[in-house]
Amino acid sequence: MQQLLSLLPKIDQILQAPQLSHCNKGLLKKLAQQYLQHLREQILTHQLHSIPPYKDLLQTLKEQYHHITSPSLIPLINATGVVLQTNLGRSVFSQNIIAKIAQNLSEYSNLEYDITQGKRGERYEHIKAIICALFDCEDALVLNNNAAALMLIINTFAKNKEVIISRGELVEIGGSFRIPEVIKESGGILHEVGATNKTHLKDYEEAINEESAMIIKVHQSNFAQIGFTQSIDYKELQKLAQQYHLIDYYDVGSGYIKGIKCNEPSLLEIAKNHPSLVSFSGDKLLGGTQAGIVFGKKALIEKLKKNHLLRALRIDKISLMFLQETLLAYLKDELSLIPTLSMLNQTPKELLQKAQILQAQLQRHCNLQTQIIPTSSKAGGGSLPLLDFPSYGISLQVSHAQDFCATLRQKGLISRIHQDKILLDMRCIQERHFDKIVEILKETLKSPTAI
Ligand SMILES: *Cc1c(COP(=O)(O)O)cnc(C)c1O
Repeated sequence: MQQLLSLLPKIDQILQAPQLSHCNKGLLKKLAQQYLQHLREQILTHQLHSIPPYKDLLQTLKEQYHHITSPSLIPLINATGVVLQTNLGRSVFSQNIIAKIAQNLSEYSNLEYDITQGKRGERYEHIKAIICALFDCEDALVLNNNAAALMLIINTFAKNKEVIISRGELVEIGGSFRIPEVIKESGGILHEVGATNKTHLKDYEEAINEESAMIIKVHQSNFAQIGFTQSIDYKELQKLAQQYHLIDYYDVGSGYIKGIKCNEPSLLEIAKNHPSLVSFSGDKLLGGTQAGIVFGKKALIEKLKKNHLLRALRIDKISLMFLQETLLAYLKDELSLIPTLSMLNQTPKELLQKAQILQAQLQRHCNLQTQIIPTSSKAGGGSLPLLDFPSYGISLQVSHAQDFCATLRQKGLISRIHQDKILLDMRCIQERHFDKIVEILKETLKSPTAI
């Protein structure tokens, strides 16, 4: 064993190796020490009975170095047909908006600086006027995400008090985020009313007592109920809350404003009733950055701003810049600046044309059987669960669809499997991706395990 240990190379020798000359010496030394320590432990516990050849050892270190120094957050092509794919980052930005933000990022800004007065300002001011103009509301606040908005609202107004909520709206959003749990963790006491399928106005009314702080309505987001169901309109809940001097709060979830043909209640409609508080996400149907937007009555928003938790939940400056641009696009009706809307609005005819161009390119460069088929794509991100967006896809005939799909994934193309074939749905694929898709498929076809 001692003899084996003595055969391990010295750190200095590794650091001088020409194969590793491109590596940062400090980082390489750390990795080499860890690796040698690992080998030493394996020898001492009799798991290793010979030292790997020196060149293999260097190769392992080289791979480790490459792995740790390569950014792991990489661009992917979304061929799933799900526009707001939560796992793939929900909304994307237009090049136009990115170019504007990119210029600002290398400079200081007036993030929290009032340039007219020359003193400290508020980051929320940059967006408040835009939100108030859009929704004709008194005041607004933006946070890290909509979960943060829910948390801050409950913690500010319903700590140790009761929050009245319908049993039909105790939603789980995904990633084990559950509305009732967040309410409880934020200090609120749940007062559930009604049944899973039906809640009446009198259920809410009977629940009101001296411990009540708020009536909340939560958008069901990712599911829908059909059949023997009933829920109460926000307008009626608002009236009831006012009658008993409670706060009414609507967690709208996706934040649909305009630009898509759907039955989703638009925030523009909701705002007309002047709710006490409304919150929604910035990166779902709104099509902007991760953020939680709150608007409503000025006196309430001011209380939210005084909660010390706000510091932990606030929006960061990069998100704020993106959100400002996205909301300005809505304000000026420049909806082509919002790719989420453009992707959802593509007609089947446009999608078919895109599919034909890509198919021709694939036929020219790849030895593959392809077929264009009608598909059904989705909005995703927990929104519009019942709505199908008719689309077209290219199906690829391969013999081991699972393996092929996995190889495509490794190379940056996220597809799905449909009837044992690979399906590339055209809805989220842009023309700028075509060359890359051809290249990925060519490479995948070369690898022996894939076909
Ligand atoms: C998505 C969603 C949330 C959470 O929003 P994030 O911005 O992802 O934090 C909260 N409530 C509802 C109803 C939602 O649909």
